[in-house]
Amino acid sequence: MVARTRIALIAHDEKKDDMVAFVAGNGGFFAGCDIVATGTTGGRVAEACPDLTISRLKSGPLGGDQQIGALIAEGAIDAVIFLVDPLTPMPHDVDVKALMRLAIVYNIPLALNLATARVLVERLGDRAGRKS
Ligand code: PGA
Repeated sequence: MVARTRIALIAHDEKKDDMVAFVAGNGGFFAGCDIVATGTTGGRVAEACPDLTISRLKSGPLGGDQQIGALIAEGAIDAVIFLVDPLTPMPHDVDVKALMRLAIVYNIPLALNLATARVLVERLGDRAGRKS
């Protein structure tokens, strides 16, 4: 049996449409994943892709990024797609940095833009023998 990929999804406000389109466009891959997401991102993706099972955490500015960081530290996340908006200052910038730091510490694949997310999904899809 192929283990399900445990993947975390986070998108800043200006990137949420991109995240929704990306997940919808790779529905075959994401159907084989256990998805966790920050609150608003998870809500937007669930609305567009009702067949996917998504565990929604708190919204990013209310601790959702830190919750995902904790899951990484516990070994409960295989990969992170974090579509960052580099042009908007954010109140939870320190939480974002902390999450990125933990992904680095635990050597978890971390896609920060769509180009990398595509490569990651292609690679993980190949590894799992699934179509992306
Ligand atoms: P959100 O959080 O999905 O709840 O908007 C993402 C973030 O801003 O880190």
